Amino acid sequence: MSAVRIVHVGPLTERFNQRLLQGRDVVQLWQQADALGYLAEHGAQFEVLVTSARFGCSAALLECLPNLRAICSFGVGYDAIAVEVARQRGIAISTTPDVLNDCVADLAMGLVIDTARQLPAADRFVREGRWLAGHYPLTRKVSGKRLGIVGLGRIGKDIARRAEGFAMPVRYHNRRADPSSDYGYEADLLALARWADFLVLACPGGAATHHLIDAAVLEALGPQGILINISRGSVVDQPALVAALLAGTLGGAGLDVFEAEPRVPEALFSLPNVVLLPHVGSGTEETRLQMEELVLANLQAFIDNGELLTPL
Ligand code: NAP
Repeated sequence: MSAVRIVHVGPLTERFNQRLLQGRDVVQLWQQADALGYLAEHGAQFEVLVTSARFGCSAALLECLPNLRAICSFGVGYDAIAVEVARQRGIAISTTPDVLNDCVADLAMGLVIDTARQLPAADRFVREGRWLAGHYPLTRKVSGKRLGIVGLGRIGKDIARRAEGFAMPVRYHNRRADPSSDYGYEADLLALARWADFLVLACPGGAATHHLIDAAVLEALGPQGILINISRGSVVDQPALVAALLAGTLGGAGLDVFEAEPRVPEALFSLPNVVLLPHVGSGTEETRLQMEELVLANLQAFIDNGELLTPL
């Protein structure tokens, strides 16, 4: 049994929950009726916290853990982790980068095609017997269209590579140009939105990107433009998005993430040019297993030699 006490914030798969327990001193916080009350009493015992992009680690939680040395998180998003507080206290943080790039990029391209060609709506058309009464309306072509990426990072670059297979010119917007990339950089997000047929969001969530996609960006994308969001719901001004879609001033949207998940604006349910997914970007058996392995590998490396393998 490892001497390091670990607090596990929220459940992942039962397979992971059980593997984490093997040979380790782990407290499953969600089993405590009053989690913060429990930590107020016992928090000083814990040196490592295991969490996920979904459950995160708030500043209030950190306050109850005065001896915490590391946070090992499942997922690559860290917007639910009080990163600045952790940094100030010298608490190391690991996420699970790269192992999920393929699946999230696959899903982004899936949304590009599904939204432009209205595949879910066309599928509903067949299932509801409406094909017997007439043909499905024409939709929009994907190949060769212009793809703008907001956040050309690990996932963004994999989306760009896939888009090349569809002969799509790619440009991107980051806070600064990436010298390792040959894609055209656009410092002005509005200009990228005006240029793009598809604007794909692959930047982090959090305060710095909150409502980066506002009514002006949606207007610039325009009635033929399609917004794809696989980043975080907070990046988009959701009421402005719903208004633009209902008014027809935006051509369509493919969304894997929402501002108040799992709540999704019902006004979008009937729109054929909108595809709604329940935050499943990395959600395949293969990738989730790799993410679990990477959390455990980070944890073990920290216990063995005080170093995380994939620090933030
Ligand atoms: P990454 O490698 O860190 O890339 C993030 C990119 O966003 C960087 O190119 C960064 O460039 C850019 N960026 C950061 N802040 C920005 C800002 N304020 N304005 C414009 N661009 C900004 O991260 P990743 O591994 O590709 O993951 C990206 C995000 O995808 C995650 O943070 C997560 O929220 C989301 N995600 C979603 C799912 C899902 O299931 N839907 C799964 C995994 C990840 P600069 O630093 O130069 O600005």
